[in-house]
Amino acid sequence: MKVRRAAALLALLLSGAATARAQDEDGVRLLLGRLERVVQSGDAGAFLGLTSDTANATRARDFVSTEIMPGAKRAVLHERDRQALQGSLRGSGHSLLVEVIAEFGSRARIATWRVDVKRTGAAGSEREWTIADQERLSSVENIYRLSLNATKAFTARNLKIAAEDLDLTLPEGSVFVGDIDLGVTAVVLIGRGTLNFHPAPAVEKGQVKIFCGSETLETRFDVAYLRVNPAEFATLIDESALEPKAVDPGEMRRAQEIFREESQKSFVIDLGDLSRDAWTLLPAYGDFLAELRTRRFDTLTYARSGAEAEDITLFDRKRHRNIALYPSQEKQARRGQASYNEDDLVDYDILDYDIEIAATPERQWIEGRARVRLKVRSYVLGSLTLRLADALVVQSIVSYEHGRLFGIRVKNQNTIVVNLPTALARDSVLTLTIAYSGRLEPQAPERETVAPFEGQRAGTDDVQMMLQVEPSFLYSSRSYWYPQAPVSDYATARIRISVPSGVECVASGELEPGFPTMVAGKDPSQNRKWYVFNAAQPLRYLAFILSRFSRAETTTIAFGAAMNARTDTSLAGAGSKGIAPGPLTGTVYRSLNLSVEANPRQVQRGRELAERAAEIAMFYESIIGDSPYSSFTVALIESDLPGGHSPGYFAALNQQLPSSGLVWRNDPAAFPNYPDFFLAHELAHQWWGQAVGWRNYHEQWISEGFAQYFAAMYAHHQRGDEGLASVLKQLRKWGMDASDQGPISLGYRLGHIRGESRVFRALVYNKSAAVLHMLRRLVGDEPFFGGLRRFYREGRFRKVGTQDFRAAMEKETGRSLERFFDRWIYGSTLPKLKVGHRVEGTEAVLHIEQIGEIFDVPVTVTLQYADRRTMDVLVPVTERTVEHRVPLEGVLRGIDVSREDGTMAEIVKN
Ligand SMILES: [Zn+2]
Repeated sequence: MKVRRAAALLALLLSGAATARAQDEDGVRLLLGRLERVVQSGDAGAFLGLTSDTANATRARDFVSTEIMPGAKRAVLHERDRQALQGSLRGSGHSLLVEVIAEFGSRARIATWRVDVKRTGAAGSEREWTIADQERLSSVENIYRLSLNATKAFTARNLKIAAEDLDLTLPEGSVFVGDIDLGVTAVVLIGRGTLNFHPAPAVEKGQVKIFCGSETLETRFDVAYLRVNPAEFATLIDESALEPKAVDPGEMRRAQEIFREESQKSFVIDLGDLSRDAWTLLPAYGDFLAELRTRRFDTLTYARSGAEAEDITLFDRKRHRNIALYPSQEKQARRGQASYNEDDLVDYDILDYDIEIAATPERQWIEGRARVRLKVRSYVLGSLTLRLADALVVQSIVSYEHGRLFGIRVKNQNTIVVNLPTALARDSVLTLTIAYSGRLEPQAPERETVAPFEGQRAGTDDVQMMLQVEPSFLYSSRSYWYPQAPVSDYATARIRISVPSGVECVASGELEPGFPTMVAGKDPSQNRKWYVFNAAQPLRYLAFILSRFSRAETTTIAFGAAMNARTDTSLAGAGSKGIAPGPLTGTVYRSLNLSVEANPRQVQRGRELAERAAEIAMFYESIIGDSPYSSFTVALIESDLPGGHSPGYFAALNQQLPSSGLVWRNDPAAFPNYPDFFLAHELAHQWWGQAVGWRNYHEQWISEGFAQYFAAMYAHHQRGDEGLASVLKQLRKWGMDASDQGPISLGYRLGHIRGESRVFRALVYNKSAAVLHMLRRLVGDEPFFGGLRRFYREGRFRKVGTQDFRAAMEKETGRSLERFFDRWIYGSTLPKLKVGHRVEGTEAVLHIEQIGEIFDVPVTVTLQYADRRTMDVLVPVTERTVEHRVPLEGVLRGIDVSREDGTMAEIVKN
């Protein structure tokens, strides 16, 4: 707007035509100023006075009946967008998109309107602008400017406030309220109170214990700030415990200060230039929020939020950690025992993306235009929520079906709420094109990247330390670099990316033939390189990485007969056996285009990797009977840390410089004696994590544990029994050491409270992989691999979970695996075994007793003969006590329980 106005003023000095334009500009501004005053006065007649067409009269009256309300104390109207009028009015004016706020005391209403304005009167003469047509596109009817009531104060005596699993007690203190026309929605408590948080689920008790040392968190608070729906205030707070008192100015000031600080943290909406005030939404009925300032733990936030699948949380504000997160009893009862699918809550399903990105890495600047095709899943959809990084400014949102739309940014949440002009019915298809730009930092290394220990950077005086790693810029699942659904959502995509001519790009999708191409700029420094990537198979999320790359290798692998003929002793029956029946949905590829793009210094290493990657891909395809994507690119980048990141179609693999000097051996995900392990893990993610997705955070082991186990199987394939044993030893050790930190099903929350990401990797990567190996040994190779293939086929391009895996395995094995998964995935204890033996004639009788909970666990007992020979015996332990008879082949000296078979159990000496 400002630019346009300045340009108009300049033009005024230059020509007569420009003078007319400037007059027009003033005319439109005048009209909008009048319209703003009409909103403020609520004068319907005055609105009709601004309209010109009698043909519009009925529409104008309808519009006024909902949009022009009496009683407004203040109104602000801003123009957001302007297009030329079309059709019969072509050339006579503009179609404006305006946003308007009308304030009625502490309540306000915001709306987005389309207002068509046209000029009347002859050219050259005094021209006047009038409204030719108008329409409400969207509105939010009730938002509130909340403040603490300065005239009210109460003394609290023995005040008790209860929410599910939370009790607040304030024996004596002061209470202040923030009220609106509907009643009290905010409360400030000051005084020595006690908070008692006692989650019902056993797993959450365990997490609370990790946080505070006890399964119940009881601590003192000095200040509490509560938000509640006004209709529930009376049920939440027993007013007989409150006694009105005179307002003490000092105390009120303190309460105001608390209010100002705490009220900013939730339910706030950002209205930009419409209003600088803090406007808030009301908590929904049943929702409750408490910000509790404690001495010992700083601010703890308890929230009950019905819109979430896990609606109760206790959150550590200062350190940004979820302490507890679980479904309320009500939600649990409604859902039953089944774990939820995050997709059940989504309003829409994204079908396809067409994205154009101009990326300039040295400024970390991206400009994007994303066309998103989506299908409505909820019964009616009036607005939709998209995730997009806060740093990216939205220039426009246009719907193919509905024209220009307007989005509201929700502060600090990487979110835009797009209001739709009409409610859309289930299954309607909507196509949005969103233009945006901004400075976006690349994604920080995530958990997949191994973290070094503080203070263990060695050899800083080494000259080689001066070697700088080649910079790379990764934009992926945590960057929100394109508009996306609030949860990951399988969609196909076409991504066009332009980069400066000296930069290369690898992205989700297969590079289209003929790309990259160079497009000349005004001068050579502005030359841009264009890439087009096609993801014909659905992806959970899209990613790209920029760096200086050289193509180290490219090759096409053919799957099929040649591979099936391979004999593989480590996978009895797995590779060549028939695939579970039923066609795969989507395209099935019988080959894979594999390439390696490497930073200049890593090209040689890249060539070596290419051969290894091809071998790994063939090995995995032979196990599963499918390779989900048509191409795979390894982007070999330099980094201080080992690790990688694996979206669909490619993996960024960190290559440490020999001089980096960082010690990282003591990490669950590091296999220092086995450098190919990372590659094998990352490559496995194309099948596990990408093609087969996880339905919520509890199921992340389906991605990481499976990738880890596939890498372990590749170690077996490549290095034989010893290779497998050395990996299993490490999986087992980390898995056992960290088990008491919580069940595998806690996902990212493992180690989260203490900020110890090794716990997460120890359990979600390593323990999970060891669990898969135990399952395989319990049920046997053939049913195990049959179950794996069935699970893959049923889960391909879907989000699945433990229940689906269990069902697939039960189908193949014909036995119940309920207890197996209960103990190993949802439980955090380990089997305790007492192992003994006796000799009866020519047989050894192995006796195994489970002392604690009963598990299903395969135990390898090693018989040691007097002549030093040893023999391993597999004993499936699935009862309280098991006796297993083995014919002896010599004089028995003793027995031992193996620690190299991946079985996690505590062995209690007899
Ligand atoms: Zn991984």
